[in-house]
Amino acid sequence: MKQSERALRQEIIDRCREMNAKGINQGTSGNISARYGDRMLISPSAIPYEEMTPEVIASLPLDGDGDWEGPKKPSSEWRFHFALLRERPDAEAVVHAHPTYCTTLAMAQKGIPACHYMIAAFGGNDVRCAGYATFGTDALSKLAVEAMKDRTACLLANHGMIVIGESLSKAMWRAVELETIARQYYLSLQIDGLVVLSDAAIEETHAGFAGYGLQNDDGEAPAKSGVPK
Ligand code: 13P
Ligand code: ZN
Repeated sequence: MKQSERALRQEIIDRCREMNAKGINQGTSGNISARYGDRMLISPSAIPYEEMTPEVIASLPLDGDGDWEGPKKPSSEWRFHFALLRERPDAEAVVHAHPTYCTTLAMAQKGIPACHYMIAAFGGNDVRCAGYATFGTDALSKLAVEAMKDRTACLLANHGMIVIGESLSKAMWRAVELETIARQYYLSLQIDGLVVLSDAAIEETHAGFAGYGLQNDDGEAPAKSGVPK
């Protein structure tokens, strides 16, 4: 059954709090959006997650040009959330955060290669690092959309990361997986001998993921990409 708008607004708040509880973000440095019909719902800018209520979630028509409704300004990063929801029909939700290991790699403007088969959870055989642009700008939005091409995640140079998901729960799952592989890659750089997997190995992983995954609560078949819905 389709979630009510109020329930989705509450879920955005719950997921913001979850990001901090899981240690993949701190303070109000992250932001979350979700598609609701032809609108984008997004966390407001610079409001502590503990203080958010469903009413303060901003709402923007996806066919508009940034006009928004709500008692508080939308996240300063509404532009890349908006662009991704518009340009990626596979995206129902967007999570942006500044997790420590993703951000450490992004500070060196390094993407993540196929250092572990779980790289396939992000759509290809690597996670790119988008070039640097000032937070909140249209330039950053364009760089992010480009870095996300055929991918469900990217790093943002000297800033943080973005993931998209077919649902909020999948986007959150992916955010945690991204920080995990970033940490593992970072640690592998501390020892000699990192071996990057071949394209063929990652192709096989994609094929394996098609038949692997947690069952939904209702016992449906696993999600195509092998991750929880
Ligand atoms: P907001 O508080 O405006 O959502 O911005 C935080 C952030 O991540 C800026 O990049
Ligand atoms: Zn940010």
